[in-house]
Amino acid sequence: MQRLAIFDLDNTLVDRQGPLTDWVSAFSSQYALNDHDRADLLQVVHARAYPSAFETIRAQYGLAPSAETLWRDYCAYMARSVSCPADVLEGLSTLRRTGWKIAVATNGANEIQTEKAAVSGIVDHVDAVCASEAAGVRKPEVAMFEKAAASCGADLALGGWMIGDGVDTDIRGGRAAGLRTIWIGGGRSWPGDDAEPDHATTDVRQAIDLLLTTVS
Ligand SMILES: [Mg+2]
Repeated sequence: MQRLAIFDLDNTLVDRQGPLTDWVSAFSSQYALNDHDRADLLQVVHARAYPSAFETIRAQYGLAPSAETLWRDYCAYMARSVSCPADVLEGLSTLRRTGWKIAVATNGANEIQTEKAAVSGIVDHVDAVCASEAAGVRKPEVAMFEKAAASCGADLALGGWMIGDGVDTDIRGGRAAGLRTIWIGGGRSWPGDDAEPDHATTDVRQAIDLLLTTVS
């Protein structure tokens, strides 16, 4: 099998949940939202935030700034809040040094996902970053994995690995695309009756170590 590793970004290579919760608190304070509004706001951006979400947020809370300004502020906040642990960056470098091609495949708006990959330093340690908005397809569609593989000069038909926390997007999607899978399950049990991932780890550094030590 070729040495191709496709990584998810949010809550795999970087923690999105912590910065997102912090953003909701900061935004709610700035615009004097009550606890109910705060919970609603988290729901709106929980799975994924796009510029259109800020039209909704602006209208819902009667905010003065334009949706464009709110979106830009959100992007800036999230981009400066995410980070990738040094041992994970080091692991990505080691993978590449040992002949692995590495792509990041992430669902989300191109602007913010590429900014997060840049600010966290990830972009310097991988061959390509593929955001679904730019790709025109999204996980778990097989075409997203094809584009991620092609973006780093690999052919999906020759196999590889998908590493991520998403049960449907990363693991079921990766499996359907013919990839072997490592689920960043954080210690949770696999939540389905279908085949389990090839491996499950609590964090992405352990997943990288598996690739380095057990995959020939
Ligand atoms: Mg994820």
